[in-house]
Amino acid sequence: MRRFQFSVIKVGMWPYHPELLARPVPRYTSYPTAADFHDGVGGAEMEEALAQLSAGTAISLYIHIPYCEQICWYCGCNTGATGRKQRLDSYLQALEMEIAHLASRIGGRVRVNRLAFGGGSPNAITPIAFARLCDRILTLFRADYEELSVEIDPRIFTLDWAATLAACGVTRVSMGVQSFAEHIQKAIGRIQPLALVAKCVEWLRAAGIDAINFDLIYGLPKQSLADLEDTLAETVALKPSRIALFGYAHLPHLLPRQRRIDGSNLPGGYERFEMAAFGYEYLTSAKYVPVGFDHFALPGDPLAAAAHGDSVRRNFQGFTDDNSDVLIGLGASAISRFPDRILQNEKNSGRYRQLVSQCRLPATRGIILSCDDRDRGRIIADLLCRGEAQNIPEQIMKEIRYGLSAFAELGLISLGSSDLKAREEALPYSRLIASVFDSFRNGSGTSWSPAI
Ligand code: SF4
Repeated sequence: MRRFQFSVIKVGMWPYHPELLARPVPRYTSYPTAADFHDGVGGAEMEEALAQLSAGTAISLYIHIPYCEQICWYCGCNTGATGRKQRLDSYLQALEMEIAHLASRIGGRVRVNRLAFGGGSPNAITPIAFARLCDRILTLFRADYEELSVEIDPRIFTLDWAATLAACGVTRVSMGVQSFAEHIQKAIGRIQPLALVAKCVEWLRAAGIDAINFDLIYGLPKQSLADLEDTLAETVALKPSRIALFGYAHLPHLLPRQRRIDGSNLPGGYERFEMAAFGYEYLTSAKYVPVGFDHFALPGDPLAAAAHGDSVRRNFQGFTDDNSDVLIGLGASAISRFPDRILQNEKNSGRYRQLVSQCRLPATRGIILSCDDRDRGRIIADLLCRGEAQNIPEQIMKEIRYGLSAFAELGLISLGSSDLKAREEALPYSRLIASVFDSFRNGSGTSWSPAI
């Protein structure tokens, strides 16, 4: 017997407006988005930004490991198969060199507040290599971690890894779960039974790491509302401290690996909307605090506290309680963010290694933010994180009134002379409302995913 507690009509506290949802939009993990970066900026602008950091600045570091043991068909990340050991070793050597180059410029001057390892799969390298990277940073920087987080692939996680993470001082682990349904796992090329994920959770908790994040996906091939409900129930039983529930973005024209997924098996727009609404209501009923439009945190988690205190921010990993104004990314394709610029490292790992071996900072793309970009970026982040924005400059207000009129007529938002407030039921339309402030978009976009 199925056990839906919420009918779609009740879940309809989110009104369904397919005409609004038809337009694909960016996720706005940054504004301007990575698609708006250009190659007119690079290493010189990175040198300049680092030179301007004042003594004692608290920064966050992000280390990118663009390798995975097995590539999942749905994945949109910049990652490749680990393949030859030699390739991975060369990458790690380059990464250590980049850490040293950065440390020679700012190592003694700044304070590393947060360190995050992402990918790809950071546990595609060996536990020893991981410990060595952590040690290099501790040796070369003034580090005083509020949080040290690592993304892991549960399929290749081991008891040894759990012990290594604990010994290195890791405080938070994120794992890709997506769905526990076997038929969906087969359809997306990622087999990882519930028992395997539960074992990883058990190992981590036994090692003293209790802050565990799960990433789930709705809108997957062959996924039904019942499948989502089962995965949510199994997830809640494992009590991860944070859950992200993302909508699957099927973009096979940009991501050849997604061509293995049969598009005819994907849920339609209405089914996706139902799943997002159902997931939101399920997790909030299970006492998770909603953060933005797709994150949920247990009440004792710092992200829930940030949501209550209106201090949630948007970053490249989604919604965060990290309040550093400076994030420096290391590794191929990693993105750095300063108050006045965003810079991205060379994406190709061969060219990345070459630049680093020439003692150069490997940023090769990015954007210098104009005052207008910064205003719009602040407004977009406020809308996504808090559902409202104040002090909108007059010129921007004039430009966006027409674009927001459909949302206003449907009662989803209220507009003042210099502020905008989205109603609670506008949550699924957050990215669409935010996109009206995006001066780089012209209404089209085949590189983006549906807002829900
Ligand atoms: S493990 Fe994660 S990063 Fe690697 S291919 Fe699968 S989804 Fe992508």
